[in-house]
Amino acid sequence: MRDDVDITALKAELEMRLRELEALRERSAESRDAVELDQTRQGRVSRQDALMQQEMAKEAERRRATEMQRITSALKRIESDDYGYCVKCDEEIAAKRLALDPAILTCIACAR
Ligand SMILES: [Zn+2]
Repeated sequence: MRDDVDITALKAELEMRLRELEALRERSAESRDAVELDQTRQGRVSRQDALMQQEMAKEAERRRATEMQRITSALKRIESDDYGYCVKCDEEIAAKRLALDPAILTCIACAR
């Protein structure tokens, strides 16, 4: 267990981010459905627009899913007291690095 980082604060930040991502995911699921409905009464060009928007929404969703996975595993590592240690070399991850991204799993050396 690290005593040089405020795990409680970092955990709260991780949980907040996770909730934000979940809210974004729900909102974007609604807009993806909306695109679907509109296509039936739109011309070819706006249909292409709609498809492109849908593609972008899918890409955003993929990024969200990856980020949510990182956050979930960081939270699990807090539970098991492994948080703050690099998953590759087991060295401490710099406190500054954790402050910038609480979901980071590797030290700076292993990230390179
Ligand atoms: Zn490392």
